[in-house]
Amino acid sequence: MLSVLRQIVQEVNEAQNLSEVLSIIVQRVSATMGVEACSVYLADRQQERYLLAASVGFLEGVDGKVHIHFSEGLVGLVGEREEPINLSDAPNHPRYRYFPETGEERYQAFLGVPIIHQRKLVGILVVQQRQPRRFDEGEVAFLVTISAQLAGIVVHAQTAGLISDESTDNYVGTTLHGVAVSAGVAIGTAVVVLATDLDAVPDREIEDVEKEIQALEQALRLTRADIERLKLRLDKTLLPEEQNLFDAYLSILDSPSIKQDIITLIQEGHWAPWALRKIIKRQVHKFESMEDLYLRERASDLLDLGRRVLGNLQTENHPVQAYPKNTILVGDEVSASALAEVPQGHLRGVVSAKGSANAHVAILARAMGIPAVMGVTGLPAHKLESKQIIVDGYNGEVFTSPSTGMIADFCRLAEEEKELYAGLDELRELPAQTPDGIRVSLYVNAGLVADIRPALQAGAEGVGLYRTEVPFMIRDRFPGEEEQYLIYRQLLESFAPKSVTIRTLDVGGDKSLPYFPVQEDNPYLGWRGIRITLDHPEIFLVQLRAMLRASAGLKNLRVLFPMISSISEIEEALRLLRQAHREVMDEGYDARFPETGVMIEVPSAVYQAAEMIKRVDFLSVGSNDLTQYLLAVDRNNAHVANIYDSLHPAVIYALKMVVEAARGQNKRVSICGEMAGEPVCVLILLGLGFDMLSMNAHCIPRVKWIIRNFTLESAEMLVAEVMQMHHARDIRQHLEKALDGAGLGALVRAGR
Ligand code: PEP
Ligand code: MG
Repeated sequence: MLSVLRQIVQEVNEAQNLSEVLSIIVQRVSATMGVEACSVYLADRQQERYLLAASVGFLEGVDGKVHIHFSEGLVGLVGEREEPINLSDAPNHPRYRYFPETGEERYQAFLGVPIIHQRKLVGILVVQQRQPRRFDEGEVAFLVTISAQLAGIVVHAQTAGLISDESTDNYVGTTLHGVAVSAGVAIGTAVVVLATDLDAVPDREIEDVEKEIQALEQALRLTRADIERLKLRLDKTLLPEEQNLFDAYLSILDSPSIKQDIITLIQEGHWAPWALRKIIKRQVHKFESMEDLYLRERASDLLDLGRRVLGNLQTENHPVQAYPKNTILVGDEVSASALAEVPQGHLRGVVSAKGSANAHVAILARAMGIPAVMGVTGLPAHKLESKQIIVDGYNGEVFTSPSTGMIADFCRLAEEEKELYAGLDELRELPAQTPDGIRVSLYVNAGLVADIRPALQAGAEGVGLYRTEVPFMIRDRFPGEEEQYLIYRQLLESFAPKSVTIRTLDVGGDKSLPYFPVQEDNPYLGWRGIRITLDHPEIFLVQLRAMLRASAGLKNLRVLFPMISSISEIEEALRLLRQAHREVMDEGYDARFPETGVMIEVPSAVYQAAEMIKRVDFLSVGSNDLTQYLLAVDRNNAHVANIYDSLHPAVIYALKMVVEAARGQNKRVSICGEMAGEPVCVLILLGLGFDMLSMNAHCIPRVKWIIRNFTLESAEMLVAEVMQMHHARDIRQHLEKALDGAGLGALVRAGR
């Protein structure tokens, strides 16, 4: 069963459009189950009806012509109940309805299952048979499994289909939905990021066939050389039979038929990467359908090889990607380095299928003030190359090939937004003080030396979080003490006498160092943050020494420990800090013992915050991780992004506990997660009594604006109100209304 399922999914993945997808489904399902009729109905929410989209066992030509209202017939019943319905004698069921236009015979046996994607009913899959019989448990399970597996593919094909219909005159563009991860609106031209994934390679027309063929040949030669090199490198490590793998790779590469097939597609006018994708996928499919296990396994070799050739084609033989002045980066997965590659001033927006608001690339987009929507369902990245796109980073929407009216509307919104921020600039020199006289310190989060200038320009009062892993990530080995000293010294000097909170190395989870791979099944619950550095005092002490030496004579260093989950970790970290301090003092540096702080990022730290604060000078809430761990929602996973919400009542309760813990010892408490820069959250943080908010430099003006327009008293009242609410969405709405009421609605929604 599994192999049949795999084959169907594979074939469907290869299909060119929605109708091909659906026709493969009905044909393969009816053949596998040995039934006389199989049909797929797609839900049309606006018209509240199902459309018969593909069938076998009905009259020729009925597909696309039969409509069934949501409340009609057995198909309607499957949709209402959202569960399988299995009947041996369907015509006798009270909900049975005969649709003569299908030419449907009086089928007796009926099994219908809903096709559901991310809680939304997409359609209904039905099998029918003349003979009355109840389908057995295995058959029901098969249909349910196939429907669950295909739901995502159907949604994807539906969206892609809408976009590829652009050539028709009545095309008005498509709206795609995702998660709003960086506020703002942007209008621009899509540039699809280079794919390492064959499936994401877009098709492009070419003019110079010869040049394209040469590029392919060169890429094949380079790939051959790569494999020869690999083989040689592992010569002594691998057994001769294991080395056969490389010979198998080489023989595939030398296969004249594969190369010729790719060239034929190039000669038809397609560019080499797409031709490569097409032929490799076709071959992979062939291998995967083979009975022989050994040959089936070769499919993955072929895929790997395809990716290698693709890499060489893209890097060696194609001109550097041209980025228009108004680039919108689009991709299945847009990496931080893809963002960095766009020339300064050309990037307007980011759209990606994977990722969510707390992925580090999203944090980067926000830091750069670039509107971004991630986790976009059914994003057909490869079809969007050079298309005009609007990114609505307020509502998490992406509009492809928008109408001229829509472009005009969004241009106006973008203009208004620009004016709004220009107006905020005037607040730079003014304090972040509420109308009833409460001062809140606004600090910046930083990770690169390049962050220093914007932070100072934005009027930050210091650095609330310096993520040291950033300089660690961009190297190919651990930076030495001297290298780190220079980075920290520049940072501390630039801000002195303002304080700079440097966080000790926080890797693990989704932050990996290329030269220190940590392979775990559950990285977020594994070896990360302080757990790694305490296990490696030789790395930790070097970092602490570098910080302390860098602070000599400046007195503005604060040291922050990440991912603390127990008191013993604080004690151990402090012991090592004292040791490092003694050493640098003995070496003659005038380094004051720094203020120390603990990040509150995991539930255990919330409950022990009152004890933890007795051992250090301040607490700093890492609300990105705290939300992740309190709600058990992966901060990077687009599938669960809709339930990741820092305004969940449980998070607000936790924040309250942490503030009270710090207050109990008369110590300071800050927050440095993304919440601190989000306008609606700022109201809550103000009302809860946080002394210090640390955020991207870009967010400072608008947060200052809120604080200067909201009294502490009103913020406290809002906290009391939301503490009575049970749903994050109600809390969010309530806070948005409050912002609106104060005339600050423009900060949360474009055009207000
Ligand atoms: C956090 O978790 O909120 C935080 C500030 O740390 P990071 O995002 O670097 O994990
Ligand atoms: Mg964190």
